[in-house]
Amino acid sequence: MTPCFVRVALDHPLTALYDYRYPPDAPAPQPGMLVRVPFGRREAVGLIFEVSTHSDVPANKLRDVSAVCASCPPLSEQWLALVGFAADYYQRGLGEVALPALPQALRDPARWARLLAPEERYRVLPAGREALPDALPARAQALRRLAEALVAAGALDLADARALHPKAAATLESWCEAGWVEYECVEFGAAQAHANVAAKTTDAAAQSSTQVALHQLSDEQAEAVEAILESRGFAPFLLHGVTGSGKTEVYLRALAGLLEREPGAQALVLVPEINLTPQFEAAFRTRFAGVLPDDAIVTLHSGLAEGERARHWLAAHTGRARIVLGTRLAVMASLPRLAMLVVDEEHDPAYKQQEGLRYSARDLAVWRAKQLELPVVLGSATPSLESWWQAEQGRYTRLTLSRRAVATAVLPTVKLIDLEEERRRGRASFEGLSGPLIAAMKARLERGEQSLIFLNRRGYAPVLSCDACGWVAGCPRCSAYVVLHKPERALRCHHCGWESRIPHSCPDCGNVDIAPMGRGTQRIEEALASAVPGARVLRIDADSTRRKGSAQALFSDVHAGEVDILVGTQMVAKGHDFQRVSLVGVMNADNALFSHDFRASERLFAQLMQVSGRAGRAGLAGEVMVQTRYPRHAIYHALARHDYVGFANSQIAERRDAHLPPFVYQALLRAEGRTLEAALAFLAEAAQALTTMPTASRVMAYDAVPLTIVKVMNVHRAQLLVESGSRAALQATLRAWLPTLRGLRGVLRWNLEVDPLDI
Ligand code: ADP
Ligand code: ZN
Ligand code: ZN
Repeated sequence: MTPCFVRVALDHPLTALYDYRYPPDAPAPQPGMLVRVPFGRREAVGLIFEVSTHSDVPANKLRDVSAVCASCPPLSEQWLALVGFAADYYQRGLGEVALPALPQALRDPARWARLLAPEERYRVLPAGREALPDALPARAQALRRLAEALVAAGALDLADARALHPKAAATLESWCEAGWVEYECVEFGAAQAHANVAAKTTDAAAQSSTQVALHQLSDEQAEAVEAILESRGFAPFLLHGVTGSGKTEVYLRALAGLLEREPGAQALVLVPEINLTPQFEAAFRTRFAGVLPDDAIVTLHSGLAEGERARHWLAAHTGRARIVLGTRLAVMASLPRLAMLVVDEEHDPAYKQQEGLRYSARDLAVWRAKQLELPVVLGSATPSLESWWQAEQGRYTRLTLSRRAVATAVLPTVKLIDLEEERRRGRASFEGLSGPLIAAMKARLERGEQSLIFLNRRGYAPVLSCDACGWVAGCPRCSAYVVLHKPERALRCHHCGWESRIPHSCPDCGNVDIAPMGRGTQRIEEALASAVPGARVLRIDADSTRRKGSAQALFSDVHAGEVDILVGTQMVAKGHDFQRVSLVGVMNADNALFSHDFRASERLFAQLMQVSGRAGRAGLAGEVMVQTRYPRHAIYHALARHDYVGFANSQIAERRDAHLPPFVYQALLRAEGRTLEAALAFLAEAAQALTTMPTASRVMAYDAVPLTIVKVMNVHRAQLLVESGSRAALQATLRAWLPTLRGLRGVLRWNLEVDPLDI
């Protein structure tokens, strides 16, 4: 018998694949199969990338694959190519990209048996949908819960049913006899056929769903949907639609058209934030109720429990899930029948992973579309300049929605409140809330409308200081001030999490008059209580939503009208379809005007457009008030005119003149050392090495510099920016540079980021 070897990727930062002997009695090896292998003194999970009849590793060094995950269908060649591309482009090891892309539970062989077991499930039939749960005695609460869960989900597997009712098996059997449900036992991975059967059995339900009133599409929406559906091959679209223009409706229609045309086709829909998934999921479930079985729509994000995430991932992998709705990590999902991709709010920096593999989910989505020759829709009211520039050059097809979808809704009017002028004229203000803003909130309260105050700084006050001696509360581990958190009665470092109690007096001079300076969301929340008496104020930020599920609860309070004034950070600015918000107030936006980061104005403009877009969505006249010391700044002017195009084109011109992205390609080497000198010395050596690379003449390195917050957790950080006018030259140089970097010493850690967003 010919011996058989496999090359396996392991979660390890080297590019290499590892050779193992493959057991002759195991199922035929194939790339994309999961295996368990001995690695050093432990066992690890790996992914087969290659199968071969020989190995260059000496026989006495070769070890055996210890287990094969046979019931999981192998990952496709295309998926392996995606991983290969990401590893190559972001300069990482194959395994370092491939294994973390799999759900954690699947990387634990102890869980394979359970995750991949044949599935015993009960599916509700139309008769059961009619009869349950009303046919049950009112007092049989557990039974009713089981029935409700079954009707809501369409199908339940036995384990889930048992969790709801101890005698679920017997009950479900009796429901089978009544013709209310049917029993299925499906081999794992055989679910594809099953999903199609399921689509037929729910035909009756489909009829009732056509009663969901569909919007009459606007001409612009209809054109966009048509363009997407008529496209052939790789077709990148930039859907530029003002806030509230009904971009979601375009995605839904295009998806519906596609799923109708290609039975079994799958779609991937990305949203930037976990908090936006419930709103999207609800819209998708309503629209596809009856058309798709309920389990054909799944979510993928880090908020899911591990088991659930693995099940959703596997549903995508086996083709049962037809629409996958997720955050950036979902871009790596295995989707064997992928037919369309959507990236909503494509400009959002949250699509960039900031640790580990620093990838851009938007860019990978476009790559997948290109690889598989598919349409990809990038939607935004404020596209990233990268995407805008692609559209300007005609590489992406631009689709424009220039008006709000709801007939009576118009874009809000934007008023700039000149804080200097307010002060000069001696007009009253309260805790940073100007007179006009307070008056506007009061008027909304009287009319029963909602106001939203946007302030991108959480905590009570960013600085606690002593007037007498100049002491400022700082973090002992970071080069940063600590933030005062009043409800938690703590000083907290937002960089490392260090916490202490609030001192009663200045630790340096004993002065008891230490005072908080500046304002965060907690302070504004407190101020609003007295500035707008009688208003119900709700704060939404990372602190108030720390517990799982609490963000969703708070957002539903807003939707339910139980809140008059909402105060929040960028968490409230994005994507939410608030129906009763008619006023948006913006505080402290000026801070971002003077940033050193060349992307700061792009980001600020997008943020302000987004948050402004929360006002007046459902026909209430919307108003935005921006408090500023620089009312003549170009950004605010463009905002007041809702002029994204003008703003984008002027930014593009500036970037071109200054040789900045998208006109050059960048990579960032960051180093962390025990001292700043160590970090800078490492980078200096790295920069020196760079000049000896073969393509060095086409790549330029800036001077190494300390990060703005140079010390975090007692570690000193510095960075080296490298750029080139040619992406290929940059890529080639980085590839040649890496082995040298791996050989350098003297720092605790370093990482290389391609296409960095924060510089
Ligand atoms: P965007 O994502 O572009 O900000 P949404 O997709 O949230 O906008 O749509 C805004 C609102 O307009 C939603 O309440 C949606 O139901 C509604 N809407 C969308 N399309 C139409 C249409 N053709 N006619 C009427 N209302 C629409
Ligand atoms: Zn003091
Ligand atoms: Zn700290």
